[in-house]
Amino acid sequence: MNLESLAQGIRLTVLLYQEDSYLKEASCGIVRSEPDDRKSGYVVLDRSAFHPKSGGQPSDRGKISADGVVFDVRRVMMSAGVVIHWGKYVQGVPGVGPAHMEIDWGLRHRLMRKHTAAHLYDHCLSTVLGNHVETTDSWVGDDGYIGYRGRLPSKEQLQAAEVMENQMIANGARVASALMTREEAFLTMPDAPNMARLPSNTNLRVVTIEGCHGIPCGGTHLSDAREIGRFLLKAPKDLTEGFKVYFDISP
Ligand SMILES: [Zn+2]
Repeated sequence: MNLESLAQGIRLTVLLYQEDSYLKEASCGIVRSEPDDRKSGYVVLDRSAFHPKSGGQPSDRGKISADGVVFDVRRVMMSAGVVIHWGKYVQGVPGVGPAHMEIDWGLRHRLMRKHTAAHLYDHCLSTVLGNHVETTDSWVGDDGYIGYRGRLPSKEQLQAAEVMENQMIANGARVASALMTREEAFLTMPDAPNMARLPSNTNLRVVTIEGCHGIPCGGTHLSDAREIGRFLLKAPKDLTEGFKVYFDISP
């Protein structure tokens, strides 16, 4: 079954993870349920706390339950604004109607910590280099990295950015978000590291870490950078037209 046909005729999912990244469980309605095979299938909800795999952030996992039904969510995807949950039938088969969802909070919180840490490194590296950096991609799952354009900075510069980030984490920095149009975003933050990669003609969610420029991003973030713990720089990789900074965070 392809994702486009699963999303067809379904209203855009209310993205609860964008309204509140700390939402661990909530009631919801199942609006579509399609089997994949005898033991697994796809479920679409009217609103979802599950973050799909996108923007370098792996998908959430968790559970959707209803009367006599337990559905183990293993993968979450987005198609045309509709969040689609793929998982295993643990008990019964989900049908259209009221349900309850619960995300794997341990996994999500770690992803939020790594995602926020990656934004903060963009800021610190820009500051150390004295010019704005441009990102190409990122991944905050296992073997997490941030991809940048340009020449690989020196080891000392990369480490100076790491030291700066850990100082900012230790001091604490509040993280806030607001919605704006692409034009407004471009006017207020033309140097955002991911500006060239943003979708057009949609409203953008702009995330601001205290002490840093705003950055358009639809992912999940901490409310305070202090929760990152410690940023751990790993060996970088020099690419032909850019470089990757591998990193991790404290357990
Ligand atoms: Zn983000």
